[in-house]
Amino acid sequence: MDEFVCQQRKVPVTEHCDVAVIGGGPAGFAAAVSAARNGKSTVLAERLGALGGTASLGYVNPISGFFQNGNRVVGGLAWELVQRLEELGAARVEYPKGHVSFHPEAWKLTAQRMALESGVRLMTNMTLSGCMLDGWRVTHAVLDGKSGPEAVAARCFIDATGDADLCRMAGAEMMPANTLQPASLCFVLEGVDVTTPLLKDSIHHTGAGGSHSVNDTIHAYLEACAQRGELEQFGGPWFNTMVQGGAVTVNVTRRAGNAADRAELTRMECQLREEMFRIVALLKREYPEFRECSIVASGVNAGVRETRRILGLDTVTGQDMLAGRRWPCPVVRCAHPMDVHDARSSAQTVDYYASAAYVPHTALIPRNLDGLLATGRCISADAMAYASLRVQATVMAMGESAGLMAAEICDHGVIDPSRLSAAIRQRGVIPSGM
Ligand SMILES: Cc1cc2nc3c(=O)[nH]c(=O)nc-3n(C[C@H](O)[C@H](O)[C@H](O)COP(=O)(O)OP(=O)(O)OC[C@H]3O[C@@H](n4cnc5c(N)ncnc54)[C@H](O)[C@@H]3O)c2cc1C
Repeated sequence: MDEFVCQQRKVPVTEHCDVAVIGGGPAGFAAAVSAARNGKSTVLAERLGALGGTASLGYVNPISGFFQNGNRVVGGLAWELVQRLEELGAARVEYPKGHVSFHPEAWKLTAQRMALESGVRLMTNMTLSGCMLDGWRVTHAVLDGKSGPEAVAARCFIDATGDADLCRMAGAEMMPANTLQPASLCFVLEGVDVTTPLLKDSIHHTGAGGSHSVNDTIHAYLEACAQRGELEQFGGPWFNTMVQGGAVTVNVTRRAGNAADRAELTRMECQLREEMFRIVALLKREYPEFRECSIVASGVNAGVRETRRILGLDTVTGQDMLAGRRWPCPVVRCAHPMDVHDARSSAQTVDYYASAAYVPHTALIPRNLDGLLATGRCISADAMAYASLRVQATVMAMGESAGLMAAEICDHGVIDPSRLSAAIRQRGVIPSGM
């Protein structure tokens, strides 16, 4: 491959702060608000034009992971977001399972309000492109935007990019590769008749629509279509209400590949878009409920379930979760089962644990770097543990805890597990009595 050194760039340091969070998805938004509410000057940089990542810009609905066996095991900022969405009439907790359906535009607005009210300095449309280190300590993140490159200097960085971009650029050790869960391009349909027996239960994730709210009737039909070669791959389908208006979100496309590889991601997104139109045409052909529907939006990116994860001081495993392993300082309790979408077929395996599992704070700390934490999708977890902790309530709680960890680093230079644990409990990230 030909290579050359690109022009040397002068990068102005436009922001100095205590905590810089890169990535404004559910985990990063919560991390930034948490650090700011803890008195830290905080910058939140996001490559897209709004907050919410996979949740709001990717149309992944509902928020899962709050409840286990009827008990709410996640509180703090994540639950505050739900309450504020409810006040806007833009969220509904689907009891008894407790998944939360929401309107994606209200998610963006509410997250933005919470960030700005907390004093977070928001930098949207800024893509992380590099970093500076002093020895093993990350000192600056370099972001590219319309004004050219800019650097943010911080005492502690939080990587919430989902793909561990900052950790990778800084040279963090990574977990060995495993078979990745597939990506799905989620989309919004309007004009669907959701009042008939075929759909009326399955747009609510209450459990009434069957296991994991998969629409089994449509699944069987799409499976037959796939066997006839009318589509290549699919999963679910899962339909969901957006609470306001009559449109529904749809999660049905599926494509295997490594979404952290530029060329593979392009291929996957092109295939997913073709498949979205193909599947909607198949639904229109077969079911009167879909005959008048049209696609009004699709995720700004493919919804990426899994890419890279750091190797942390500790790695949480599926076995730990099943065994109910306790850690000195858990950052979240996981209520969602280990939910693995097969990369090559329409299958999904779901393993439940008896009581909500724990994630240690040490899984958020890269082994070989200072001044840097990972949160959300990119923490240190094996594939099975990851299949549980990746859901939105859990990553928001991990984000809030990461913000508290960053504040500890700024205030004390090190993290004291008992002090951190007390702060996590005091904020209700793990509700009392849990
Ligand atoms: C198809 C699908 C279905 C799912 N179903 C559910 C479900 O039903 N319920 C549930 O709770 N969860 C579900 N999930 C999981 C959940 O949505 C995600 O795991 C969760 O949103 C991850 O949050 P995050 O903040 O860690 O990452 P993301 O949501 O991926 O956010 C990362 C953010 O970082 C930004 N970013 C990335 N790279 C850079 C960069 N270089 N510079 C600057 N910014 C950057 C991105 O734009 C994004 O905003 C699903 C996921 C998928 C893909």
